[in-house]
Amino acid sequence: MAKTKKKIISRQPYNRKMFYLLPLLVMVLILVLFIFFRHKRQEVKRDPQSNVLLITLDTTRADRLGCSGYVPAQTPNLDRLAAEGVYCQAAYSPVPLTLPAHCTVLSGLYPPAHKVRNNGSYFLPEAVLTLAEILGQNGYQTSAFVSSFVLDSRFGLGQGFSVYNDEFAGGSAKTYKSERDAAAVFAAFSRWFAGRGTGKFFSWVHFFDPHAPYDPPEPLRSSFSDNPYDGEIAYMDHYIGAILDLLKEKHLMEDTLVVIAGDHGEAFAEHGETGHQVFCYEENLRVPLIFHALNRLPENMRLKQKVGLTDVMPTILEFLQIPVPASLQGRSLLPLMQKKDTVEPDLYLESFFAFEAFHCAPIQGIIQKNYKYLDLPKPELYDLQQDPGERKNLISGSAVLGQKMKTSLNELTRRLGGSDMQGQRRMTDAEKSTLASLGYITSAPAAQTAGPLPDPKDKIAGWQVFNRGAEQAAQGQTDAAAASLLQAIELIPDYAGSYTILANVYFKNGQDDKALALFRDALIRIPTDTTLKTEYAVLLIKMNRLDQGMTQLQELTKTDLVDKKAFVYSQMGSIAEAQGNPPQAITYYRQAHESEPDNDDYARKLAFLLHRTNRFAEALTIYRNLEQKQPDDIQLIRDMAIVYAQMNDLEQARSYFTRALQRSPDANLHYNFALLLARQGQYAEAAAMMEKFLIAVPAASAQAQAARRYLADWRSR
Ligand SMILES: [Zn+2]
Repeated sequence: MAKTKKKIISRQPYNRKMFYLLPLLVMVLILVLFIFFRHKRQEVKRDPQSNVLLITLDTTRADRLGCSGYVPAQTPNLDRLAAEGVYCQAAYSPVPLTLPAHCTVLSGLYPPAHKVRNNGSYFLPEAVLTLAEILGQNGYQTSAFVSSFVLDSRFGLGQGFSVYNDEFAGGSAKTYKSERDAAAVFAAFSRWFAGRGTGKFFSWVHFFDPHAPYDPPEPLRSSFSDNPYDGEIAYMDHYIGAILDLLKEKHLMEDTLVVIAGDHGEAFAEHGETGHQVFCYEENLRVPLIFHALNRLPENMRLKQKVGLTDVMPTILEFLQIPVPASLQGRSLLPLMQKKDTVEPDLYLESFFAFEAFHCAPIQGIIQKNYKYLDLPKPELYDLQQDPGERKNLISGSAVLGQKMKTSLNELTRRLGGSDMQGQRRMTDAEKSTLASLGYITSAPAAQTAGPLPDPKDKIAGWQVFNRGAEQAAQGQTDAAAASLLQAIELIPDYAGSYTILANVYFKNGQDDKALALFRDALIRIPTDTTLKTEYAVLLIKMNRLDQGMTQLQELTKTDLVDKKAFVYSQMGSIAEAQGNPPQAITYYRQAHESEPDNDDYARKLAFLLHRTNRFAEALTIYRNLEQKQPDDIQLIRDMAIVYAQMNDLEQARSYFTRALQRSPDANLHYNFALLLARQGQYAEAAAMMEKFLIAVPAASAQAQAARRYLADWRSR
């Protein structure tokens, strides 16, 4: 009470003014400080010492993240990056295909310039200067961790990366189905990260999880049972958080530019396509794009301007104060972030998928301001602002605008590098042989056919039917699959995948003649298609028509097997082995092994046959290489024990036998080990070991009789 009184008493008239002014001054000061710091946080501060972490999200639609306003999303880590950084609300991929889109991210070029127009049949030309190459030259440790075969190093994206981790097949033969999940790619990254030492780094991590089939692990499978696609995105987001945690643990978040980019979207039948690849609508091409650098890039900034994946590389380079090569076809987004630039350059779009797979007209398009124009036999024009769902084709009522955009597209295409199909191609029958089930199949580009190519819009129904048939075949619904695939052949007769899968359905049903007739028919219809030829050979082998299969394969080796001969040669080796010609089989297996030295299946086939034909030293060399990769492989340990015994290296043999017995004891091991011990003169041990063998095998067997003779001999010594 007294205190209060004192206060009141102590107030003087001049203080009364202060009574009102002081809070006002404080408020003004706070406001000034707020604006000052706010302003700072909106600034761009470039940093030549910054690390760069590029994370690409496969098949992730822009509108399925929490930060895009999608309520069911469970993407807290991506949302936080967006809130703390720059979130591009209207980012476009130029192409709805994984490999070409990633080539754009990592080269700053559009597909007509980097020449990669499709998955599987192209590789990024050496001449292309990549982001990894430039950063490597600027003193960065460079590492990449990819999760799908589509981005395997053979397709050229390893350029400039000193580590290119594409080990998603567990050492066995890679196929188009080879992929790894977010947990596995995170593990690979974290192993590298833990051992990388110091110095600035550029790492690229590719997540493949949102790609079909959508099957997130529990508990996400249950919580997203209505929409497993969203569940896959949530699963991926969790591991993005785990990667960011690794950076935080090392206090590197403030020294790292984190870039998040989608490669393309995913369609859910909005325009008749399920998945991606064929069309260039918004659902196919709108992707997430986020730039995050604490205290160095604006916070919580949303860029409304349309931007493209070509802009990623120039933005990163400018942020690092590295000169942006004039050849790049995107632009740095830093001026946009500093509000110094409001221009929206035209964006180029394409998909050559339907052109290559089933000989439709290729799609090329342009986005100019609010309009999208797609150049097709039946052209399309959309007002993206009024009609973001692209429901209303304006072309008939806006002929002038359509014509103007077509002219712009032609100029743009010419400027970007032409629309010719003469880019680097690397057709590999082996890879293509397994494409069909994923829909990644590619044939030779359409031969000069009479008349105009059909509009992909008119063929999408056939493509959908094919996909349904492939799915039914995979699930063993043979009758339904056969019906669907026959329908697909009718709708898109130029597509090799339908024939291949249908022939295998017939084969599984025991209808060999029908399967072979279908292939012969298909090879007349599309005679240039090497996928068909490979699949035909594989089926002949399955039918045990080995001579015919060998002839087919030998024909194939005369064609374009530039990059990956391994599969074809391995098949030839199997035939030679089955035909009782081990030396020939070894020659073929060796070619397979040398074409793909990392593939353990091929290494094992070769080593095993060398071993069996008493070429012990050669076999041992390969075994030793395999052992370095898989030191705990029990079969390998057993094989090595035996080969050492056969080479009279008894100490090594003993050590391997002991290891094998510790891991997985069995009768044959006991028998072989017993013989080895006897050779070393340790008859008591040998006898004990042989008794273990005798317990496990039928007493009347020939081996048991032999064992008893050995026992009698050893006990007499
Ligand atoms: Zn993709």
